[in-house]
Amino acid sequence: MQVTRWMQECSATIAEQKDYLTQLDAAIGDADHGSNMTRGFAAVETKLAELDGGVPPGKMLIAAGQTLVSTVGGASGPLWGTALRRAGRSMGESETVEPPQLADALAAAVAGVVELGAAQPGDKTMVDALQPAVDAFRSQIGGGDLAAALSAATAAAEQGMRATVPMLARKGRASYLGERSIGHQDPGATSAALIVAALERSLSDAQ
Ligand code: ADP
Ligand code: MG
Repeated sequence: MQVTRWMQECSATIAEQKDYLTQLDAAIGDADHGSNMTRGFAAVETKLAELDGGVPPGKMLIAAGQTLVSTVGGASGPLWGTALRRAGRSMGESETVEPPQLADALAAAVAGVVELGAAQPGDKTMVDALQPAVDAFRSQIGGGDLAAALSAATAAAEQGMRATVPMLARKGRASYLGERSIGHQDPGATSAALIVAALERSLSDAQ
């Protein structure tokens, strides 16, 4: 499990999509999602670079999650911080992460987001991208093909992200808009899909 690679891929893709994420948040939120996520993942990159080699993947994810919590003020900071810390905790001290453990870690991450934010699928949040991705990964990984499972997860996250457009927001700032939140893609579901795609890239060419 290349945690550093994954976090670098996240940082790069989010920085690249910063304006787009902010634009989405300007429509149904407060126009800070791009800068929140960019700042957070840049800090994660710095933090992981400071850690000594030989730190197990779970511990690296916990450090990444703590960094997000302490650097991101918006709702996405504690939510993603919890997701990464839960994923890390689920990996324990393992030096290597086999696909079934990765499936468990991803499930623990989403469960943490749901526990903290109380959003259910259909509420127009990051959960609408994450839950289908985790479900797709788990159902595909039974076949033993990691690349196929990661690709299914990415596709499911993107589909989930697009499915937020017609939804009425029931959680977070967008929920204050009521019916006016309909017709806009959720920014947090969008960055979530980027993070899942980054996971696929970080694991697929690391043979
Ligand atoms: P803020 O809303 O505090 O400005 P961000 O703009 O960084 O924070 O993040 C907004 C995103 O956070 C939303 O698009 C949504 O996906 C996600 N979000 C907000 N509240 C919740 C929640 N209770 N559960 C899950 N995700 C949430
Ligand atoms: Mg915002």
